[in-house]
Amino acid sequence: MAKTKQFKTESKKLLDLMINSIYTHKEIFLRELISNASDAIDKRHYLSLTNADLMDDYQIVIDLDEEARTITISDNGVGFTEDELINNLGVIARSGSKEFKDGLDNDDLEIIGQFGVGFYSAFMVSKKVTVLTKSVNSDQAYKWTSEGTSSYTISNAEKDEPGTTIILSVRDNNEELEDNYDEYLREYSIKNLVKKYSDYVRYPIKMDITKTDYPEDEKGKAIEYSETEVLNSMIPIWKKSKSDIKEEDLNEFYKHQFNDYTDPLKVIHSKVEGLTTYTSLLFIPKKPPVDLYSEKFEKGLQLYSKGVFIMDKNKQLIPDYFRFVRGLVDSSDLSLNISREMLQHDRQLKKIASHLEKKIKNELEKMQKNERELYNEFYTNYGVNLKYGIYEGYGVNKELLQDLIMFKTSKSDDFVTLKEYTKNIKEEQKYIYYASGKNKQSILSLPQMDLIKDKDYEVLLFTDDIDEFMVSILMKYNDLEFKNVAQGDLDLIDESEIEKFDELEKEKKSLLDLIKESLTDKVTDVKLSKRLKDSPVCLVSGEGLSMEMEKVLKNMPTNPDVKASKILEINPNHDLFKTLEKVNETNPDKVKEYAKILYSQALLIEGLPLENPVEFSNLMVKLMVDANKE
Ligand code: ADP
Repeated sequence: MAKTKQFKTESKKLLDLMINSIYTHKEIFLRELISNASDAIDKRHYLSLTNADLMDDYQIVIDLDEEARTITISDNGVGFTEDELINNLGVIARSGSKEFKDGLDNDDLEIIGQFGVGFYSAFMVSKKVTVLTKSVNSDQAYKWTSEGTSSYTISNAEKDEPGTTIILSVRDNNEELEDNYDEYLREYSIKNLVKKYSDYVRYPIKMDITKTDYPEDEKGKAIEYSETEVLNSMIPIWKKSKSDIKEEDLNEFYKHQFNDYTDPLKVIHSKVEGLTTYTSLLFIPKKPPVDLYSEKFEKGLQLYSKGVFIMDKNKQLIPDYFRFVRGLVDSSDLSLNISREMLQHDRQLKKIASHLEKKIKNELEKMQKNERELYNEFYTNYGVNLKYGIYEGYGVNKELLQDLIMFKTSKSDDFVTLKEYTKNIKEEQKYIYYASGKNKQSILSLPQMDLIKDKDYEVLLFTDDIDEFMVSILMKYNDLEFKNVAQGDLDLIDESEIEKFDELEKEKKSLLDLIKESLTDKVTDVKLSKRLKDSPVCLVSGEGLSMEMEKVLKNMPTNPDVKASKILEINPNHDLFKTLEKVNETNPDKVKEYAKILYSQALLIEGLPLENPVEFSNLMVKLMVDANKE
C-alpha cells in the first residue's frame, strides 16, 4: 500500500522557490542527479571494499523517451532503504542550515545555482519525479513519487539489482514564460549538459545515441540505429599525476577550456593534501585579454568539487593583482550540498585562495630567476597589473609584490628588479632615483638628470602612469628611499659645496625675488639649482603631488582640479644666469620678461601645456627683434 507523507517545511519553501521562480539555471538538475548517482556508487564501492563483493561495472545510464516525455537516470550505487527515502528525500537541509530558515531571496537562488540543491532541482524541469530504488542492505525495493507540491508517496516495488532509477516526467513547454522543457528531451542537449557539468565524473555516463547509416547496397537509403556511448571523459587532466601529463595536453586543454588560440605562457599545476585538499591548474595566458584593465573584466577561477563543475568564475579564489590568471580548482572539501553551512565553503575557499596567491607569487619569482626571457614577456604584458596591486589597498600587498616588479633604467635596456638595482648601487648613493617621462630618450635629456648623470647614478625609468603613484605607496625598498629626480633635494653635493651655495643664494636674493615676483601664481619659489649642470633652468615640484602625477590625474575622465606646486630652479653656473644678472643692473623689467620665457620653456620640457602660448610667442618675437635692433 502506498503511504502519503508531507515534506518538511524547509523543503516546501525551497521547492516553491525553485519551481515558481523564473530560475535561469534549470539545466543544473542533471548535474545534481548525476553527482548524487556518482556519490551513491562511491558509497557502494567503499562498502564493497570491506564486504569483498567487488564490482567493476559501475555506471550511470541515461534514457530519453521523447514521446513519454521522460528522462531516466539509473545508477548501480547503494540505493535507498525505506527509512533513507523518508529521511533523505522527505527533508531537505537536514543539517538545519540557517539559510533556509531565514528565507531565501534572489541572491540565494544564484548561490543555489552554483552550489546545487541536490535532488530537489529535479522539480525545476519535472512535473513528477519517480524514484525506484533498492538498497544494498535490503531485499525490498521501493518506489517514491512526488509532484513536488507538498507531499510524496512511498510504496513497495520490484527491482532486481541494488541501485536507484530516477524517472523525471518532464514539464510541458510554457511559451508565456519562454520555458523550453522539450530541450531536455533531446539527445544533443543531454550530451552537451553532461560534457559541460559532469565530464569528469569518475564513472561512465552512458546513453543510447541515435545514428544514421547509409549502407551502399540500399542505394542511399538511410538506416537509423542506436549505439550506446559514454558521454563523459571521466578522468580530469588535472587529476592525472604530473609525470603522466604532457605539456601539449595541458596546452590543448587550456585552449579548449578557456577559449584561447595560443598556448599559455605558463602552467602552474599543483596538488595539495592536508587540512585543505585540492588540485589547482592555473594558466597565465600569453596575451592579456583586451579588457583586462576595464571595469567589465571578470576575474575568477573555475570551481569543481570532485570533478563536478560548480561555477565558472569564482572571484574569491584570485586576488585582483593576479586577475589575469585563468584556471580551475577542484576540491573534495567543497560539497555540492547547499545544506552544509555556506560559511564552511567560505573558509575553505579562503584557505585555498591564500595558498594559490603564494603559489603564483613563488612561481613568478622562480620564472624571474630562472627563465628571465619568459618573465620579461610576462612582465611586459602584466607588469602594470602588479604595480596596481602595490598601489591598491594602501600597500597591504607591497611585501608580496615588490620583488616581482621591474624597470628599465638609465643604464639598462633590460628590465631590472629592485633587488638588482640596489645591488649595483654606488657606495655613496643614498636613494633609489627615478625619473618620469615618455621613454628613455626623453628622460635622459631632462635637465633634472644633469648632475645625476654626471655622478653616474642609475635612474629607474618611469613610463607607466601608475609608476609614481605606486612608488608613493612603496616609499622604500630595503631601507632605501625612492627619490624623484624632479622633486625635492637630491642630496648630490657635499657639505662644503652646500655652504658656498647657500651664501651665493643669499647674495643673489634680490634677483631671485624679482623673478619670483614676475611668476606669481605660477611658481611657489625660485631657487638656485643643485641638480643642474649644463642646462640653464628646470622646474621641479615641491612636497606632495609631483608634476607627473598632476599630468596623469588631469588626463582622467573626472579631470580633477589638482596642481603640483612648482619651483623654478636656475643654474648659477650657466651663462644665462650671468646674463640675467647683467640685464638686472640696467633693465629689471626685461628680467621679468625673460623669467616668463624661461618658465614657459621649462613647462615645455616637462611636457606640460603652456598657460599662455600667445604671450609666450609674443615675448619670443620681441626678444628676437630687440636683439637685432642696433
Ligand atoms: P545531497 O546534496 O546531500 O546529495 P540531495 O537532496 O541531492 O542532497 O540528496 C539527499 C540524499 O539522498 C543524499 O545525501 C543521499 O544520501 C541520498 N541520495 C540521493 N540520490 C541518491 C542516489 N541516486 N542513490 C542513493 N542515495 C541517493
